[in-house]
Amino acid sequence: MASGGEQKVVLITGCSSGIGLRIAVLLARDEQKRYHVIATMRDLKKKDRLVEAAGDTYGKTLTLLSLDVCSDDSVRQCIDNVKDRHIDILINNAGVGLLGPVESISMNDMKKVFETNFFGTVRMIKEVMPDMKKRRAGHIIVMSSVMGLQGVVFNDVYTASKFAIEGFCESMAVQLLKFNVKLSLIEPGPVHTEFETKMMEEVAKMEYPGADADTVRYFKDVYIPSSIDIFEALGQTPDDIAKCTKKVIE
Ligand code: NDP
Repeated sequence: MASGGEQKVVLITGCSSGIGLRIAVLLARDEQKRYHVIATMRDLKKKDRLVEAAGDTYGKTLTLLSLDVCSDDSVRQCIDNVKDRHIDILINNAGVGLLGPVESISMNDMKKVFETNFFGTVRMIKEVMPDMKKRRAGHIIVMSSVMGLQGVVFNDVYTASKFAIEGFCESMAVQLLKFNVKLSLIEPGPVHTEFETKMMEEVAKMEYPGADADTVRYFKDVYIPSSIDIFEALGQTPDDIAKCTKKVIE
Protein backbone atom coordinates (compact mmCIF):
# COMPACT_ATOMS: atom_id res chain seq x y z
CA MET A 1 0.00 0.00 0.00
CA ALA A 2 1.32 3.44 -0.90
CA SER A 3 1.86 6.17 1.65
CA GLY A 4 -1.32 7.87 2.80
CA GLY A 5 -3.61 6.26 0.24
CA GLU A 6 -4.02 3.66 -2.43
CA GLN A 7 -2.18 5.38 -5.24
CA LYS A 8 1.55 4.93 -5.46
CA VAL A 9 3.52 8.03 -6.34
CA VAL A 10 5.89 7.24 -9.20
CA LEU A 11 8.53 9.75 -10.27
CA ILE A 12 10.08 9.14 -13.70
CA THR A 13 13.09 10.99 -15.18
CA GLY A 14 13.50 11.81 -18.87
CA CYS A 15 9.85 11.77 -20.03
CA SER A 16 10.16 14.07 -23.06
CA SER A 17 10.52 11.12 -25.45
CA GLY A 18 11.17 7.40 -25.91
CA ILE A 19 10.96 4.91 -23.08
CA GLY A 20 10.34 7.41 -20.27
CA LEU A 21 7.38 8.95 -22.07
CA ARG A 22 5.78 5.55 -22.70
CA ILE A 23 6.30 4.36 -19.09
CA ALA A 24 4.68 7.57 -17.82
CA VAL A 25 1.65 7.15 -20.09
CA LEU A 26 1.22 3.42 -19.40
CA LEU A 27 1.27 3.90 -15.62
CA ALA A 28 -0.98 6.97 -15.75
CA ARG A 29 -3.51 4.99 -17.79
CA ASP A 30 -3.57 2.06 -15.36
CA GLU A 31 -7.19 0.89 -15.26
CA GLN A 32 -7.21 0.52 -11.49
CA LYS A 33 -5.61 3.97 -11.10
CA ARG A 34 -2.92 2.51 -8.88
CA TYR A 35 -0.33 5.16 -9.77
CA HIS A 36 0.06 8.89 -9.56
CA VAL A 37 2.77 9.62 -12.10
CA ILE A 38 5.11 12.57 -11.72
CA ALA A 39 6.58 12.76 -15.19
CA THR A 40 9.70 14.92 -15.31
CA MET A 41 11.77 16.42 -18.09
CA ARG A 42 14.61 18.93 -18.18
CA ASP A 43 12.94 21.19 -20.74
CA LEU A 44 9.20 21.69 -20.22
CA LYS A 45 8.95 23.23 -23.70
CA LYS A 46 9.11 19.60 -24.89
CA LYS A 47 5.97 18.60 -22.99
CA ASP A 48 3.51 18.54 -25.94
CA ARG A 49 4.18 14.97 -27.01
CA LEU A 50 3.72 13.65 -23.49
CA VAL A 51 0.63 15.75 -22.83
CA GLU A 52 -0.95 14.54 -26.06
CA ALA A 53 -0.13 10.89 -25.33
CA ALA A 54 -1.38 11.22 -21.74
CA GLY A 55 -4.79 12.49 -22.99
CA ASP A 56 -7.34 12.86 -20.20
CA THR A 57 -4.95 11.46 -17.58
CA TYR A 58 -2.95 14.72 -17.76
CA GLY A 59 -3.60 16.74 -14.62
CA LYS A 60 -5.25 13.71 -12.98
CA THR A 61 -3.07 10.62 -12.66
CA LEU A 62 -0.18 12.35 -14.45
CA THR A 63 1.46 15.61 -13.49
CA LEU A 64 4.54 17.25 -14.89
CA LEU A 65 7.63 18.71 -13.20
CA SER A 66 10.89 20.11 -14.46
CA LEU A 67 14.00 18.09 -13.58
CA ASP A 68 17.55 18.04 -14.88
CA VAL A 69 19.32 15.04 -13.34
CA CYS A 70 22.69 16.77 -13.86
CA SER A 71 21.82 19.65 -11.53
CA ASP A 72 21.86 19.34 -7.72
CA ASP A 73 19.52 22.34 -7.41
CA SER A 74 17.04 21.06 -9.96
CA VAL A 75 16.90 17.61 -8.34
CA ARG A 76 16.46 19.04 -4.83
CA GLN A 77 13.79 21.49 -5.99
CA CYS A 78 11.85 18.77 -7.76
CA ILE A 79 11.93 16.38 -4.79
CA ASP A 80 10.93 19.24 -2.46
CA ASN A 81 7.89 19.85 -4.65
CA VAL A 82 6.61 16.32 -4.03
CA LYS A 83 7.79 15.87 -0.47
CA ASP A 84 4.35 15.76 1.17
CA ARG A 85 3.28 12.96 -1.04
CA HIS A 86 6.52 10.96 -0.72
CA ILE A 87 7.90 8.98 -3.65
CA ASP A 88 6.98 5.31 -3.60
CA ILE A 89 8.66 4.39 -6.87
CA LEU A 90 11.54 6.21 -8.57
CA ILE A 91 12.23 5.31 -12.19
CA ASN A 92 15.66 6.53 -13.32
CA ASN A 93 15.24 6.56 -17.06
CA ALA A 94 17.08 9.71 -18.27
CA GLY A 95 20.15 8.87 -20.28
CA VAL A 96 22.36 9.97 -23.15
CA GLY A 97 24.30 7.97 -25.70
CA LEU A 98 27.72 8.53 -27.22
CA LEU A 99 28.88 6.65 -30.25
CA GLY A 100 32.11 6.77 -32.23
CA PRO A 101 35.88 6.22 -32.18
CA VAL A 102 37.13 7.24 -28.76
CA GLU A 103 40.15 9.15 -30.21
CA SER A 104 37.76 11.70 -31.71
CA ILE A 105 35.54 12.22 -28.66
CA SER A 106 36.37 15.10 -26.32
CA MET A 107 36.87 14.51 -22.60
CA ASN A 108 34.02 16.97 -22.02
CA ASP A 109 31.59 14.88 -24.03
CA MET A 110 32.69 11.75 -22.19
CA LYS A 111 32.15 13.46 -18.83
CA LYS A 112 28.63 14.52 -19.89
CA VAL A 113 27.71 10.87 -20.42
CA PHE A 114 28.89 9.94 -16.92
CA GLU A 115 27.30 13.07 -15.46
CA THR A 116 23.90 11.98 -16.82
CA ASN A 117 23.93 8.17 -16.88
CA PHE A 118 25.94 7.57 -13.72
CA PHE A 119 25.96 10.66 -11.47
CA GLY A 120 22.46 11.72 -12.57
CA THR A 121 21.07 8.40 -11.34
CA VAL A 122 23.19 8.43 -8.18
CA ARG A 123 22.03 12.01 -7.46
CA MET A 124 18.37 10.92 -7.68
CA ILE A 125 18.86 7.83 -5.52
CA LYS A 126 20.77 9.83 -2.90
CA GLU A 127 17.92 12.33 -2.71
CA VAL A 128 14.99 9.88 -2.37
CA MET A 129 16.75 7.22 -0.28
CA PRO A 130 16.49 8.83 3.18
CA ASP A 131 12.68 9.11 3.00
CA MET A 132 12.27 5.57 1.63
CA LYS A 133 14.53 4.18 4.35
CA LYS A 134 12.64 6.10 7.03
CA ARG A 135 9.33 4.74 5.79
CA ARG A 136 10.85 1.30 5.23
CA ALA A 137 9.16 1.15 1.82
CA GLY A 138 9.99 2.02 -1.76
CA HIS A 139 11.21 0.75 -5.09
CA ILE A 140 13.98 2.27 -7.19
CA ILE A 141 14.22 1.26 -10.84
CA VAL A 142 17.31 1.98 -12.94
CA MET A 143 17.17 1.84 -16.73
CA SER A 144 20.51 0.31 -17.58
CA SER A 145 21.15 -1.58 -20.83
CA VAL A 146 22.55 -4.83 -22.17
CA MET A 147 25.58 -2.60 -22.60
CA GLY A 148 25.79 -2.55 -18.81
CA LEU A 149 26.62 -6.24 -19.04
CA GLN A 150 28.78 -6.47 -22.14
CA GLY A 151 31.15 -4.12 -23.93
CA VAL A 152 30.09 -3.06 -27.42
CA VAL A 153 32.50 -1.68 -30.01
CA PHE A 154 32.37 2.12 -30.55
CA ASN A 155 30.15 2.49 -27.48
CA ASP A 156 33.11 2.52 -25.08
CA VAL A 157 32.06 5.43 -22.87
CA TYR A 158 28.32 4.74 -22.90
CA THR A 159 29.04 1.10 -22.03
CA ALA A 160 31.34 2.19 -19.22
CA SER A 161 28.66 4.50 -17.78
CA LYS A 162 26.16 1.65 -17.71
CA PHE A 163 28.71 -0.79 -16.19
CA ALA A 164 29.36 1.84 -13.53
CA ILE A 165 25.71 2.25 -12.61
CA GLU A 166 25.26 -1.55 -12.52
CA GLY A 167 28.11 -1.80 -9.99
CA PHE A 168 26.67 1.01 -7.89
CA CYS A 169 23.22 -0.59 -7.87
CA GLU A 170 24.44 -4.09 -7.04
CA SER A 171 26.19 -2.70 -4.00
CA MET A 172 23.38 -0.32 -3.01
CA ALA A 173 20.63 -2.96 -3.40
CA VAL A 174 22.10 -4.99 -0.54
CA GLN A 175 22.17 -1.95 1.78
CA LEU A 176 18.61 -0.95 0.87
CA LEU A 177 17.16 -4.42 1.33
CA LYS A 178 17.70 -4.11 5.09
CA PHE A 179 15.24 -1.19 4.99
CA ASN A 180 12.72 -3.03 2.84
CA VAL A 181 13.56 -0.76 -0.15
CA LYS A 182 13.92 -2.60 -3.46
CA LEU A 183 16.31 -1.64 -6.24
CA SER A 184 15.84 -3.19 -9.69
CA LEU A 185 17.86 -2.89 -12.89
CA ILE A 186 16.23 -3.11 -16.31
CA GLU A 187 18.62 -3.98 -19.14
CA PRO A 188 16.97 -3.45 -22.55
CA GLY A 189 18.55 -4.52 -25.81
CA PRO A 190 18.02 -2.28 -28.86
CA VAL A 191 14.90 -0.12 -28.62
CA HIS A 192 13.49 2.03 -31.42
CA THR A 193 13.73 5.57 -30.05
CA GLU A 194 15.32 8.87 -31.03
CA PHE A 195 18.37 7.70 -29.15
CA GLU A 196 19.17 5.24 -31.91
CA THR A 197 17.98 6.94 -35.09
CA LYS A 198 19.33 10.43 -34.43
CA MET A 199 22.65 9.20 -33.17
CA MET A 200 23.38 6.78 -35.98
CA GLU A 201 22.40 9.14 -38.77
CA GLU A 202 24.38 12.01 -37.31
CA VAL A 203 27.53 10.09 -36.51
CA ALA A 204 27.69 8.53 -39.96
CA LYS A 205 28.01 12.04 -41.46
CA MET A 206 30.54 13.36 -38.95
CA GLU A 207 34.32 13.76 -39.31
CA TYR A 208 36.56 11.94 -36.86
CA PRO A 209 39.74 13.90 -36.21
CA GLY A 210 42.32 11.84 -34.35
CA ALA A 211 40.97 8.47 -35.45
CA ASP A 212 42.89 6.55 -38.13
CA ALA A 213 41.36 6.09 -41.58
CA ASP A 214 40.77 2.32 -41.17
CA THR A 215 38.86 2.83 -37.92
CA VAL A 216 36.70 5.55 -39.47
CA ARG A 217 36.02 3.44 -42.57
CA TYR A 218 35.08 0.43 -40.43
CA PHE A 219 32.87 2.60 -38.24
CA LYS A 220 30.97 4.24 -41.08
CA ASP A 221 30.83 1.42 -43.64
CA VAL A 222 30.48 -1.64 -41.43
CA TYR A 223 29.49 -0.74 -37.88
CA ILE A 224 26.70 1.79 -38.60
CA PRO A 225 24.94 -0.24 -41.35
CA SER A 226 25.15 -3.48 -39.34
CA SER A 227 23.86 -1.73 -36.20
CA ILE A 228 20.89 -0.43 -38.17
CA ASP A 229 20.26 -4.02 -39.36
CA ILE A 230 20.41 -5.28 -35.76
CA PHE A 231 17.91 -2.62 -34.69
CA GLU A 232 15.62 -3.58 -37.57
CA ALA A 233 15.79 -7.28 -36.70
CA LEU A 234 15.79 -7.21 -32.90
CA GLY A 235 14.60 -3.76 -31.89
CA GLN A 236 11.84 -3.56 -29.32
CA THR A 237 9.45 -0.66 -28.97
CA PRO A 238 9.39 1.80 -26.05
CA ASP A 239 5.99 0.28 -25.21
CA ASP A 240 7.62 -3.16 -24.79
CA ILE A 241 10.03 -1.71 -22.23
CA ALA A 242 7.23 0.23 -20.53
CA LYS A 243 5.21 -3.00 -20.10
CA CYS A 244 8.27 -4.75 -18.71
CA THR A 245 8.85 -1.89 -16.25
CA LYS A 246 5.22 -2.04 -15.11
CA LYS A 247 5.61 -5.77 -14.43
CA VAL A 248 8.72 -5.09 -12.36
CA ILE A 249 6.91 -2.63 -10.08
CA GLU A 250 3.71 -4.67 -9.73
P1 NDP B 1 15.53 9.11 -25.67
O1 NDP B 1 16.65 9.92 -26.21
O2 NDP B 1 14.26 9.02 -26.43
O3 NDP B 1 15.19 9.61 -24.18
C1 NDP B 1 16.17 9.99 -23.27
C2 NDP B 1 15.51 10.91 -22.26
O4 NDP B 1 16.50 11.31 -21.28
C3 NDP B 1 14.98 12.21 -22.90
O5 NDP B 1 13.76 12.53 -22.31
C4 NDP B 1 16.06 13.23 -22.52
O6 NDP B 1 15.59 14.55 -22.42
C5 NDP B 1 16.38 12.71 -21.13
N1 NDP B 1 17.58 13.33 -20.58
C6 NDP B 1 18.83 13.41 -21.10
N2 NDP B 1 19.64 14.12 -20.28
C7 NDP B 1 18.86 14.50 -19.23
C8 NDP B 1 19.10 15.26 -18.05
N3 NDP B 1 20.29 15.78 -17.79
N4 NDP B 1 18.08 15.44 -17.17
C9 NDP B 1 16.86 14.92 -17.40
N5 NDP B 1 16.56 14.22 -18.51
C10 NDP B 1 17.55 14.01 -19.41
O7 NDP B 1 16.14 7.66 -25.41
P2 NDP B 1 15.54 6.30 -24.80
O8 NDP B 1 14.12 6.45 -24.45
O9 NDP B 1 15.93 5.23 -25.71
O10 NDP B 1 16.45 6.16 -23.49
C11 NDP B 1 15.92 6.04 -22.18
C12 NDP B 1 16.86 5.16 -21.35
O11 NDP B 1 16.91 3.86 -21.90
C13 NDP B 1 18.31 5.69 -21.31
O12 NDP B 1 18.80 5.56 -19.99
C14 NDP B 1 19.04 4.72 -22.24
O13 NDP B 1 20.39 4.57 -21.87
C15 NDP B 1 18.26 3.43 -22.00
N6 NDP B 1 18.36 2.45 -23.08
C16 NDP B 1 18.01 2.76 -24.38
C17 NDP B 1 18.15 1.81 -25.39
C18 NDP B 1 17.81 2.11 -26.81
O14 NDP B 1 18.18 1.31 -27.68
N7 NDP B 1 17.10 3.18 -27.13
C19 NDP B 1 18.65 0.46 -25.07
C20 NDP B 1 18.98 0.25 -23.69
C21 NDP B 1 18.83 1.20 -22.74
P3 NDP B 1 15.82 15.68 -23.55
O15 NDP B 1 14.67 15.54 -24.49
O16 NDP B 1 15.80 16.96 -22.80
O17 NDP B 1 17.14 15.40 -24.20
